[in-house]
Amino acid sequence: MARAEFYRARRGPAHRTEVIETDAVIIGAGPSGCATAMELLAAGRRVLVVGASGDCAGLETLSAYAGAWLARHNVPLGDPIPTVVAWWGSDQPVRTEAPGALVVSRQVLRDSLQQQVLAGGGLRLPGAVLLDVKRAGQRWTIRLLDSDGVLDLASEFLVDATGRASAVARRLGARRVHSDYLVSASIEVSGPGASGVWTESVSDGWWNLVATAEKSTLSFFTRPSTMRSTAGHLKRVFSAVRHLKGLASIPAGLLKPELRPAGSSYASASCGEGWVCVGDAVSAFQPLSSAGIAKAFHDAKLTRAILGGHERGYTATKVKEFEDYRRQLRNQYRLETRWATAFWQVQS
Ligand SMILES: Cc1cc2nc3c(=O)[nH]c(=O)nc-3n(C[C@H](O)[C@H](O)[C@H](O)COP(=O)(O)OP(=O)(O)OC[C@H]3O[C@@H](n4cnc5c(N)ncnc54)[C@H](O)[C@@H]3O)c2cc1C
Repeated sequence: MARAEFYRARRGPAHRTEVIETDAVIIGAGPSGCATAMELLAAGRRVLVVGASGDCAGLETLSAYAGAWLARHNVPLGDPIPTVVAWWGSDQPVRTEAPGALVVSRQVLRDSLQQQVLAGGGLRLPGAVLLDVKRAGQRWTIRLLDSDGVLDLASEFLVDATGRASAVARRLGARRVHSDYLVSASIEVSGPGASGVWTESVSDGWWNLVATAEKSTLSFFTRPSTMRSTAGHLKRVFSAVRHLKGLASIPAGLLKPELRPAGSSYASASCGEGWVCVGDAVSAFQPLSSAGIAKAFHDAKLTRAILGGHERGYTATKVKEFEDYRRQLRNQYRLETRWATAFWQVQS
């Protein structure tokens, strides 16, 4: 069905059923959903991506792998990161190199990937959310809710790209398993006026500043219980931070930080007959690793093989990947020994 016909067909009654000729329905239009759509389109598959674009603010860093993936798919985005500095474990700055890494606007990354899906011939159903999924024989019935009412789609293959919600996997019986709890509060600040990433540990968490010449995002990461008492007073809490406060200043006025879950978690099942999870829906890493987007792109590539019938080993690969990540994360936290607070005891 051509895209124009598809949208015309959607203007129907409040409850409608449509058979859309597509190989895969992807739930979630974030980085992993769009990247999966792009990989499948490149392999000659037809795809439909379901999900709201959603406004998102701030900057994020992309590893060299993620930058190379974008370049390969003709999405020229991001600024190089010449400066990476951490005050972690001591007050001495530790400088590292990040060759190939990039800093990008979260919104621009998501918009660009969504445009690539459409340019590649993919279909999008923006603004729809998943209500239910059922499997009958070799097909899925996917029930969605959008502004026109309830819509049933049928498809052979289903991709869960719903992030930490794991909305498909949960409906198929999986649980979300949390191995730690961390939340973040992010705000736009006046920054150093140059690209870079700066991280500083404090007694009850850590701060991160990501900047380009034009924009800067400052984030505080801590335990949920600490965030409850600090999110409303970020400016005051930041004024006690030693090094970063020389690089960024929080604007005057009422602050509305963006609060997001940022801990480590995974879906107890990430793959089955005719379905697979990608990106954060499989497993979410703490942003300390700066690996979320790269992992989303890598999963997208693996999905190409899975749709070709080679899904064996995916769950085992993902379990091992999560164990390796947890080991590295623990090692990173153990470098900080200055505070015996609940935050550092739990993380290491
Ligand atoms: C504070 C913070 C900072 C971070 N910084 C970095 C960084 O610098 N570098 C990096 O690589 N990673 C970073 N990450 C991680 C990165 O953002 C994620 O790994 C990445 O967004 C995962 O992409 P995704 O598409 O799998 O999930 P998401 O980006 O969460 O997208 C999932 C999409 O699915 C939609 N959805 C959910 N449920 C449904 C439903 N029922 N029906 C339809 N749609 C649904 C959501 O609305 C969303 O659009 C950071 C994370 C946090 C929390």
